Amino acid sequence: MATIRFLGTSGSVVTKERMCAGVLFGDKLIDVGFGVLANLMKSETSLDSINDVYVSHTHSDHVGDFTGLVWAMAMENRTRLLRVVSSVRTASTLRKVLKLQSTPRAWLKFDILFVRPRNAGVEYVRTVHSPETLAYRFKMDGCDFVYGADTSRSEKMAEFAKGCDLLIHDSTFLDGQESIAALTNHSTARDAGRTAKLARSKRLFLTHIAPTNRQVLDRYAVEAAASFDGEIVVARDMLTTSV
Ligand SMILES: [Zn+2]
Ligand SMILES: [Zn+2]
Repeated sequence: MATIRFLGTSGSVVTKERMCAGVLFGDKLIDVGFGVLANLMKSETSLDSINDVYVSHTHSDHVGDFTGLVWAMAMENRTRLLRVVSSVRTASTLRKVLKLQSTPRAWLKFDILFVRPRNAGVEYVRTVHSPETLAYRFKMDGCDFVYGADTSRSEKMAEFAKGCDLLIHDSTFLDGQESIAALTNHSTARDAGRTAKLARSKRLFLTHIAPTNRQVLDRYAVEAAASFDGEIVVARDMLTTSV
């Protein structure tokens, strides 16, 4: 049994209620979008307890607080290695971002090691999103959950998530917004429900909620439930669940 905490559940931009993408899972932080660092602080998580940062892709709503996280760890006098798990392309961008934001590497007392998912022992698949985006499947400590990252509806994702206990899926949009979902390579809540059904996931958590839909939040679970009859939760910041 492990705990998952949502540190950011908004799509694209920060709102009053929601920060951008971020999930805390044991000693792993998955995505570091704008505002995730603030919610980490609010949750009183010791930054030193984070060993790995998994990054899905380089859109700013997933990496906006990456440099800030490195600085915050330095300010807490971290000395232990920080492992960053991502694709080669994402790692290359993150290295450049650290440099362009004048991160004083000589001042850091810890190393940052960029590794590929296969070397971190985690399953991954490329999603339908641009730039290159990876979804991750964590099977450890008796839990099995999939972080779907940003994606259009994809049968490959359903195959990847087959039989998982918990699926966290892009649900940026709602019925009637299919064209903008296709244009931006995101999913609707109904898409997320279909994928969860195909995958036979036990639970579905909807996230990456479009700020423009915040007045109609009650539609998310209803539209996902049109296909999926398992447990559906519309994620919100600081929500914690066991898996
Ligand atoms: Zn995003
Ligand atoms: Zn994205």
